Amino acid sequence: MAGELHQLTVAQLAEGLRARTFSAGELARHFLQRAAQHDGLGAFLATHEEATLAQARAADARLAQGDAPRLAGVPLAHKDIFVTRDFPTTAGSKMLEGYRSPFDATVVTRLAEAGMVTLGKLNCDEFAMGSSNENSAYHPVKNPWDTARVPGGSSGGSAAAVAARLAPAATGTDTGGSIRQPASFCGITGIKPTYGRASRWGMIAYASSLDQAGPMARTAEDCSLLLSALCGPDPDRDSTSLNVPAEDFTRSLNDSIEGLRIGVPREFFGEGLAADVRAAVDGALKALQQLGARVVEISLPRTELAIPVYYIIAPAEASSNLARFDGVKFGHRARDYTDLEDMYKKTRAEGFGEEVQRRIMTGTYVLSHGYYDAYYLQAQKIRRLIADDFQRAFKECDVIAGPVAPTVAWQLGAHGADPLADYLADIFTLPASLAGLPGMSVPAGFGEGGMPVGLQLIGNYLQEGRLLNLAHRLQQATDFHLRAPEGF
Ligand code: GLN
Repeated sequence: MAGELHQLTVAQLAEGLRARTFSAGELARHFLQRAAQHDGLGAFLATHEEATLAQARAADARLAQGDAPRLAGVPLAHKDIFVTRDFPTTAGSKMLEGYRSPFDATVVTRLAEAGMVTLGKLNCDEFAMGSSNENSAYHPVKNPWDTARVPGGSSGGSAAAVAARLAPAATGTDTGGSIRQPASFCGITGIKPTYGRASRWGMIAYASSLDQAGPMARTAEDCSLLLSALCGPDPDRDSTSLNVPAEDFTRSLNDSIEGLRIGVPREFFGEGLAADVRAAVDGALKALQQLGARVVEISLPRTELAIPVYYIIAPAEASSNLARFDGVKFGHRARDYTDLEDMYKKTRAEGFGEEVQRRIMTGTYVLSHGYYDAYYLQAQKIRRLIADDFQRAFKECDVIAGPVAPTVAWQLGAHGADPLADYLADIFTLPASLAGLPGMSVPAGFGEGGMPVGLQLIGNYLQEGRLLNLAHRLQQATDFHLRAPEGF
């Protein structure tokens, strides 16, 4: 049995723990051993065996008493953008090397309250800025399906760890696609809920009006278990958290999708879409039609504008959020400096990587006097129009579907020093982020080089249950989510 434990889903692990087929301690040791064995993938930034085993012992005690919460003893790992008391937190940046938070992020607390055991912290692009995980200040992450390729980003460590069975589930964050795109590139399932569903407390801020946490796992059922646990209002700590009670998303997984209207935006299927991705997405849409859904063509006319709009708003907010890393309060401080200003300058030049510095400069530029109206204000106006386009589309359909990214995962180093190549690849994930809508990626097949392709599902506000339902039904009719990369 032990050799197979990592092939089990979160739902199966929870059941096995309850039946005492295995213990939380046994599971924790098994997964930690796998993480060590596959260290070469670069997925983990930190593990701490004693802390993990202590959490597992607590879960086993509750399981023995019979009053354990639903996910008691099931291991998971957190993207290193969530602050944790038991593990270091770096946000993938040298700026926070060795930083220890005095508290846990709300999402971390909620999953711990559900009984989950933390295996460690997962690699990501520095401050979640990137699409390939190559912006991590520590080391890149390799895609387990082909270790010469990127896992996607910024939650690349999360996606690679789940795909390689180093963790049954992981947390991710999505500002402009960072849950959906790596899930797609690594052949797993991931959902970004409606903006405000998950508390941002303790999630190191990138662009506050866009940042959302969400689960990444192999199946929609597993994502629904985690999402049910991590969502919910947090009024004292995150003023943007929605006053919507937590839901049990597992309840609607098996609902019928008969007659459900799936809107396919014509702008998502233009010239830039690779033929292999299109074929896999078309195949998944056909499978959904066979299950009774109807496909209708819709239009999201401002899709292309999402790129310039996002790459103005996100850096603008980032430049403000990252001002706190000044060498005084936490993290890195330059060793030699002449005065306070020199200390700020040297600290930030040493602590931040190239992409983060580029975004801070872009952000301060678009917010500066004289350019604010031309860039930032215009971007905000178009952001509203993009959200309006979705509302118009949702009059004609119940859910929107399309590709997550224009291509499968690219080769490590392929985009070299060209940041625009990364930005352009975000085209299909940015619109839902700007509108604050829930979106997910579901395995839809394989493309060039045997690489996974995800189907993106976008719902109207608070329609996560619908997305998970659709994804679950698709997964009962397909087996893409069950396949493991060779050697894992
Ligand atoms: N690739 C996008 C960016 O670099 C999205 C990242 C994210 O969602 N965190 O900003």
